Parts: sequence; C-alpha cells; structure tokens
Amino acid sequence: MGDVKIYCSKCGKKLLSYNPPGFIRYKSPVKRCPSCNTRYVDPRCWEIAIQGLPRDTFNIKSFLIMLVFGVLFLWRGIVLFGMRTLGAPDNIQWLMPTTITLAGIIMVIGSIIEIILILTGAKQKRFDKLKRESEDRLNDKSYAYILSDLGYNVPDKYL
Ligand SMILES: [Zn+2]
Repeated sequence: MGDVKIYCSKCGKKLLSYNPPGFIRYKSPVKRCPSCNTRYVDPRCWEIAIQGLPRDTFNIKSFLIMLVFGVLFLWRGIVLFGMRTLGAPDNIQWLMPTTITLAGIIMVIGSIIEIILILTGAKQKRFDKLKRESEDRLNDKSYAYILSDLGYNVPDKYL
C-alpha cells in the first residue's frame, strides 16, 4: 500500500509502492527491474550533489522538539502502567503502556544522538563524505546521462 507506485516502463512489473517522502537514502537512485533488468529511478534515493538534503537535517530545534515529545511519551507510558485501559482485556493491559513507553525511549535516545552528532560536527562530516561520493558518481558523464535519460533533473554542468 502506498501513494506512490512505480512500474517498470518495459515489462510493467510493480517496482515500488510507498508513501512519500519514504525513507530517504543518499546513494545512486538508478536501479534495475528484477524481472527484465530495465533501469529505473528510485525517488527515495537522493544524489546529494543535486538534491541537497532534507530541510531539517541539521536543525537542532526540530530534534529538541522530538526530545520533548519523547519525554512526554515516556512519562505518559509510565503513568499508564498504573492505570487500567477501559475496554481492553486483562491479558493485553500491558500492551498500550509498553508501546508508548518504548516509543518515548526511542524518540529520546534518537534525538539526543542526533543533537550530539550535529554539535560535534560528526553529522556534517558524514554528509560531506556522502556529497563527495555523489559528485564522484555524477562526474562520470555516462552515469549523468543515464540519470538524465531516466527523467532525473540533472544540471547542465554534469552533462
Ligand atoms: Zn521490467
């Protein structure tokens, strides 16, 4: 199930189905149909040298907001452990508080790690490296033309 569906231009096989933006990866978007080997572009894979990065990649504020929500989830989950969920059978009373608590823990840890990586410059370094790799790929003219032919918006300087 997904809002975006991509079919092979040659054999019609369903290649992708997802809800945008999907899970963005920073690598070559050129893939091949497993059934007939025809090339296609996966829009969830970004060439950083062309597309840049999602807006909030280095936005500490957005991760601080996530941290606050994580703490609220965690707190709510712990409070729920002491309460009964109306209408839920006894044997799954633990489910709701556990789910909320776990989501809170993941959000808290995830946002703290992101904030540390941004503050120490480690995140910048990682994306600088990914950008160089992207530029290296695009500096290969045959690759740039393949991307362009597949409908990817490749700037003139690479062609
Ligand atoms: Zn195909």
